[in-house]
Amino acid sequence: MAGKDPYVKVLDIEQTLAELNHTVDQLRQERDDLEIALTTAVEHGDAIESQLEMANRQLHREIQERRAIEKQLRDLVATISQKSRDLEVVLQTITEHSDQMDLHWLGRYIESENTARQDPLTGLANRRLLDESVAHEWARARRQRQWLSMLLCDVDYFKAYNDRHGHLGGDECLKRIADTLKQELHRESDLIARYGGEEFVLLLPDTDSIGALRVAESIQRAFALIAIPHEESPFGYITLSIGISSMQPGDECESALFAEVDRRLYKAKQQGRNLIVAND
Ligand code: GH3
Ligand code: MG
Ligand code: MG
Repeated sequence: MAGKDPYVKVLDIEQTLAELNHTVDQLRQERDDLEIALTTAVEHGDAIESQLEMANRQLHREIQERRAIEKQLRDLVATISQKSRDLEVVLQTITEHSDQMDLHWLGRYIESENTARQDPLTGLANRRLLDESVAHEWARARRQRQWLSMLLCDVDYFKAYNDRHGHLGGDECLKRIADTLKQELHRESDLIARYGGEEFVLLLPDTDSIGALRVAESIQRAFALIAIPHEESPFGYITLSIGISSMQPGDECESALFAEVDRRLYKAKQQGRNLIVAND
């Protein structure tokens, strides 16, 4: 060791020290860097964590809000569907009731219209419907230059029938008379009406005097056939006197038809009853 240069050794030491210092410096630098990095990382970590926490809280809030909205929506849907069911029930009820109401009122209307034009005892047309029909058919016959015929039938000796059988018996008889007359009408357009107490009118559109006479004769045959007993009548059964009027309407009004038919009925009564009069 004595042969070695101590200066060199000093140099070596200095160099080593320098190197060590450098290394220390490097280490210190690295440590500082690490510290900075660590601080940054910690700071960043905190920030990320807080950001994550915030995001988490935000997400949680959103989930809660969405759950609340979803619940509200579900409640709303339930309410709407319940209400729509209720509404359906209400609508259905209203519809059914309104139908019933409509039908009810329509039925009442038709009934009242029918009643207003129907004879309650016999179910035949009453005077009101007869008057309307005569006016209508008269106008049509004039337009279309057609014949219009009317038969006025009056029950013979009916007061005597009532006296013997009572008013109720008389009513029953009037119903049978009406039913018999109904069967003598064959056209849809023909009308039969109870004109008064024991007087009936047949209105026969598009029918001339020959056709009307045939109908009247057929009626008398029918009454002879069913022969409703009438002990107080010289004929022994219910008979009718019939006046006929057939016209092709011109300038006169329909009252001409009534006047003529009435006159001829009177004639039939005068000439002995159970007769048909179609001429003056
Ligand atoms: P004629 O042969 O001249 O027609 O004699 P008639 O007795 O039939 O005629 P009259 O006019 O004298 O009498 C009609 C009778 O008809 C009077 C009434 O007692 C009866 N009468 C009228 N309307 C009704 C009714 O709704 N019910 C009943 N049961 N009888 C009635
Ligand atoms: Mg009479
Ligand atoms: Mg009479």
